[in-house]
Amino acid sequence: MSKVSLLDLKAQYAGISEEIDCAVSKVIQSGTFILGENVQRLEEEIASFCNTKHGLGVASGTDALLLSLMACNVRRGDEVITSPFTFIATAEVIVLLGAKPVFVDINPKTYNIDPAHIKEMITPKTKAIIPVHLYGQPADMDRILACARGHNLVVIEDAAQAIGAKYKGKMVGEMGDACGFSFFPAKNLGAYGDGGMITTNNEELAKKIRMLRTHGSQVKYHHELIGTNSRLDELQAAILRVKLKRLNEWTNKRQRIAQIYTQAFMNTEIITPFVEEFNSPVYNQYTIRVKDRDGLIAHLKKSGVDTAIHYPIPLHLQPAFSYLGYKAGDFIESEQASKEVLSLPIYPELTDEQLETVISAVLSMC
Ligand SMILES: *Cc1c(COP(=O)(O)O)cnc(C)c1O
Repeated sequence: MSKVSLLDLKAQYAGISEEIDCAVSKVIQSGTFILGENVQRLEEEIASFCNTKHGLGVASGTDALLLSLMACNVRRGDEVITSPFTFIATAEVIVLLGAKPVFVDINPKTYNIDPAHIKEMITPKTKAIIPVHLYGQPADMDRILACARGHNLVVIEDAAQAIGAKYKGKMVGEMGDACGFSFFPAKNLGAYGDGGMITTNNEELAKKIRMLRTHGSQVKYHHELIGTNSRLDELQAAILRVKLKRLNEWTNKRQRIAQIYTQAFMNTEIITPFVEEFNSPVYNQYTIRVKDRDGLIAHLKKSGVDTAIHYPIPLHLQPAFSYLGYKAGDFIESEQASKEVLSLPIYPELTDEQLETVISAVLSMC
């Protein structure tokens, strides 16, 4: 039996159940379930939260990236540069469009794509860069955007783990040509099902994405583009609106927990998250680095503390990408990180007692 789980969505619900139940019930009574008032309001609220002109609800974080690339005309034969140290969705969407993922290794301190190595991978076929704000810490956007601007590339941020994070005072979501967010339940702003959002300042992209998510049409049964069915539904939007009001407070709590962990693990062999001085991360994960990871996992498990590995296999070594021809040793920083990273429980409702349980369990071994 575990005393401290990685995430506790029941504890979160306990604090907001009345408001959630009321919002859900209102939607059901309204009889409007797709692209209604709640979706529109949430789109405005997220756009305002991210300082962007547009927010566009879609069916998932994966679709947010997919539709963003589609809207930017990424297609067969194109190359898209991204990190091999991320969740598979980031690179999967590139392949779904017939384009080729081109990986660039990470900075081992931040786990984000290393801008120093992007330029050398740009070819005449390169169309886009997808920086991932991994664990909730923004990638080095100024340097990434500089690489892109010089070569006419679009930049699609993958902010699935980073809603609310700031880079040099800017919100994630307002820096790239478009940005994908995920409302998967385990993200910082989680729905009770799947959901996603695209933010953009580009009017033309917004218009196209609005069409793509509903079968390429603006007027019912008139189809100008080949699109798909990818919409955020009213129930999820109503739930997310209740939660969005609390997001800043929840983020503060995550940041406080991260600070306490980092303080507690000082003067140990544990490598705690490195935060760039210009970043304000939101800690979707609190991920440490240790040599004897398997030993620590087993030890924590015995103490009733759940952990997770984000991610155990870098994308270039996944069987699904074997056709790309990468081999072990191609991205040593990602490979090393995948052997050493370990995510500890972090969520706003984590109690001080639970936090102490995790800390003393970790310290009794490290
Ligand atoms: C969760 C996640 C996604 C995909 O989001 P879904 O809503 O699950 O489709 C994409 N990229 C990253 C980095 C993620 O963590």
